[in-house]
Amino acid sequence: AGKGEIIQIHIGQAGVQIANACWELYCLEHGILANGRLIQKPCDDSFLTFFEFTSQQPCVQPRLVMVDTEPTVIDEIRTGAYRNLFHPDTLITGKDDSGSNFARGYNLMASELLDRAMNAIRRVADRCRSLRGFLVFRAIGGGTGSGLGTRIMEKLVEDFGKKMTIIEFLVYPSPSISPVIVEPYNALLATHFSMDCADVSFIVDNEALYDICANTLNVPAPTYTNLNRIIGQVVSGFTASQRFAGQSSVSFQELQTNLVPYPRIHYPLINYAPLVPITHSQFVDMSTAQLTGQCFQMSNQMVRCNPAHGKYMSCVLLYRGDIAPNEINTALENIKRTKSFRFVNWSPTGFKIGVSSMPPVYVPGGDLAPTNRACVAISNNTNIRIAWCRLVNKFDKLYQRRAFVYHYVGEGLEEGNFSEASENICQLVHDYLEVDASGTNSQRASEQDDDDDDG
Ligand code: GDP
Repeated sequence: AGKGEIIQIHIGQAGVQIANACWELYCLEHGILANGRLIQKPCDDSFLTFFEFTSQQPCVQPRLVMVDTEPTVIDEIRTGAYRNLFHPDTLITGKDDSGSNFARGYNLMASELLDRAMNAIRRVADRCRSLRGFLVFRAIGGGTGSGLGTRIMEKLVEDFGKKMTIIEFLVYPSPSISPVIVEPYNALLATHFSMDCADVSFIVDNEALYDICANTLNVPAPTYTNLNRIIGQVVSGFTASQRFAGQSSVSFQELQTNLVPYPRIHYPLINYAPLVPITHSQFVDMSTAQLTGQCFQMSNQMVRCNPAHGKYMSCVLLYRGDIAPNEINTALENIKRTKSFRFVNWSPTGFKIGVSSMPPVYVPGGDLAPTNRACVAISNNTNIRIAWCRLVNKFDKLYQRRAFVYHYVGEGLEEGNFSEASENICQLVHDYLEVDASGTNSQRASEQDDDDDDG
């Protein structure tokens, strides 16, 4: 009780397809059928942070809005198994493609579609008692998530004010998976234009997910469905303590306060454990210490970079399932003893801890083996700058020749926006380097896991 509501906003193809995985899982966890019917009386009303009752109780519907510039992806939802879960007014589509062009999504498609999207969001918001924030899902390499998504982010800040916490999951461009050459343009422009709107942004790199599928889960040729199910599981672990009553939850606001030392340094790593393939048919029982250890492995990261080459500024660990608090302390001691685990000297080596007693639930036919506990580790580490460097290099290669720039100028962008975007992201890389240059906390500071606050 008293947790306040969160509205999820899914934009563009990737954003909407991730919605499928995400809400399928939420429904399984809360005992909600595909038509929105609640099959068991929940023990408390925490689930109302993400769902609301419809006029036909005990049916519920997600607090969400989906937006796409063209109809095909959302039409699949309108006709699919979950068609009765989502209120039709929350599914917003245009008739035209954004053509994988940030400028088109940002300028051309924006006006009418943006108004409809914002009206839908406002209607959902009006039904909340104390709306606390937004969770936005979009890819930044295409045109809709990047362009229209940026407009929506700007509008959220304008209309709802800075009191709301806006957290986003950004699908990062992946050249070996996506055939779109201009992804680096779209991604840098979107990041530049929306940097000040988001409080916390998680980068999800499809290539990292591909590696997890291929190397860890024995899925050699993964589809978006496979990737999205991993994302779904991560998001579910991330939001579990908001949706279920539990020992200690970390609110969105607390997350931001604990993770983000400077407004721009808001791109933490998000890791998940356990990643056990379904082919390991026996039930996997992993100790809290093993789980925590795995959560700090590079193979469990949603984006490629090496935290051992950087420094940590902050960590938040969100556990779910039957977790013994004293085991957490032992696990954290182990992590801190690792040589490669370096904290900046100005930050107490503290871990903010959340625990939800609700264990993970696994999708039938999915790639992950069932386990009785899981952990999402969120850490602000300076090595994330590598992900931005990679993107700037690709951007520069195209931009040196002004290749494809006319597509953007033709849709109302100015050439100056390109150099501004590139400079801004270079500055971001520099900002991270500056943090990295601060000293390391060598003494093992007594930990500060404030796991005493509830709600
Ligand atoms: P938009 O609709 O114009 O925003 O375009 P997309 O959402 O398709 O964005 C393109 C980027 O998203 C590319 O990097 C794709 O690889 C990626 N992408 C598209 N669909 C999915 C999906 O369902 N899941 C994931 N993880 N990535 C996707």
